[in-house]
Amino acid sequence: MPKPTRLLTSLALVAAVGTAAVVPAGAVLAPGDDGIGDPYFPLDGNGGIDVLHYDVGVTYEFQTRCDPARLDGVSTLEVRATQDLSSFNLDLLLGVEGVVVDGVPAEAEKAGRHELVVTPAEEVTAGDTFTVEVTYGGEPRPDVPWNPKDPKCDHPTKQPAPLSYAGESNWLADRTEVVTMNEPHMAPWWFPSNDHPRDKATFDIRVTTDADKDVISNGKRVSRVVDGGLATTHWRLAQPTTTYLAYFAAGDFAVSTGRTGGIPWVTAVSKRLPDGSRGYIKRTVNRSGPVTVWLEEHLGDYPFDSTGGLVTDLSSGFALENTTRPTYSGGIGTAVLVHELAHQWFGDSVAIHRWRDIWLNEGFATYMEAVYYAEHGDESIPRWLERNYRETKRWGSFWRVDLTDPGPRRIFAWAVYQRGAMALAALRGKLGGRPFDRMLRTWATEKRHSTARVGEFIALAEDVAGHGLDRFFRVWLKAPRPPKPTERNGF
Ligand SMILES: [Zn+2]
Repeated sequence: MPKPTRLLTSLALVAAVGTAAVVPAGAVLAPGDDGIGDPYFPLDGNGGIDVLHYDVGVTYEFQTRCDPARLDGVSTLEVRATQDLSSFNLDLLLGVEGVVVDGVPAEAEKAGRHELVVTPAEEVTAGDTFTVEVTYGGEPRPDVPWNPKDPKCDHPTKQPAPLSYAGESNWLADRTEVVTMNEPHMAPWWFPSNDHPRDKATFDIRVTTDADKDVISNGKRVSRVVDGGLATTHWRLAQPTTTYLAYFAAGDFAVSTGRTGGIPWVTAVSKRLPDGSRGYIKRTVNRSGPVTVWLEEHLGDYPFDSTGGLVTDLSSGFALENTTRPTYSGGIGTAVLVHELAHQWFGDSVAIHRWRDIWLNEGFATYMEAVYYAEHGDESIPRWLERNYRETKRWGSFWRVDLTDPGPRRIFAWAVYQRGAMALAALRGKLGGRPFDRMLRTWATEKRHSTARVGEFIALAEDVAGHGLDRFFRVWLKAPRPPKPTERNGF
């Protein structure tokens, strides 16, 4: 991708470049909604469109002593209309220079910081597929660097506002490393999207940056082309995933590749990590292949065509299940490796239908940690359940999180993980080990590359049990107190 020139448009204002929509007489065209319909984040995703494929092309300039980082992009989306549309929205925080729909300039206007409203010149009818090319750019973190006392820099006296949405300012970068890792939102900081897990798509990701940097992303690396001081690295994810799980990282990485059980893997470890710990970190992340194969034995075929991991020196405070190649911040251990790779089945392949279904991701990935240690350590799953129950039963706030509807501010509460995993261990106690293990595999297989709700998992469990499990799931997922440690509750 040629390096775009710097854009002059402001974040909030976009020049209209197209002609007005042509609406034939008699047609009932309506604008698509500005949200997909998730009450936790009403502006997430959009109505009336289904993105099939993202071809993301970005040029990234690292921040310098005086200037913030800069990202410019030309990204093309293959979209299918799910309703007749006079206009539709995409989610993007950066400024937009122009939008072209099926080769024809469209009217494009920012409505607030997060919504890009696109009005195509031609009408769009339900079932139509079309391409949307968006040219955009800006500073994903304009508030950094900012040191008004630095004599070398001509900084404004007032610090610029961070680029934020839903209370999040997610750009993770410094002068030599960048990783676009975050949840529940990340895409709007770097590409236009239908930003909700319900709309999955395949990805081509092309990143142009300094040629002395390695670029890591999802899927398989297609090519790397050096042009002067810049290099464009192209990665392709051939299986669908959700927008927050697409990422790129650029920096000085020690890259390893291999193949385990027929699955190719790529790992990357920041060379900035301390010498003393880098060897251990590299050995651990290089076990991604064997751990993926171990998970296959429990959960059925691996849903993607490559695996691996990336360990950054940047401090995000968490690891994330980015598809095929999870991201780890600052360090890594076996438990987190198992957790993020288990998410490839629970969260990446079987994605959530709404954010309130987050238990299907976090409870399940945490449960697989217990399974791993039951096989590789000396604590069986029932003992693991008893120990965790003992340790948490007096934590009032832990039991007050409703796992079927935790609320947008508690989707990553510890209870969603730990109480969520305990609920599965208890369900295993109630249904029996083999029926439960088979059911988990059935869930991952039947929902492969689609989305799911908590109620659908409960229905499957009731099928396996042969009777209703209302009471069981109420005490384990909803009741504001620990379940009694009885056989009926799975102990
Ligand atoms: Zn997780």
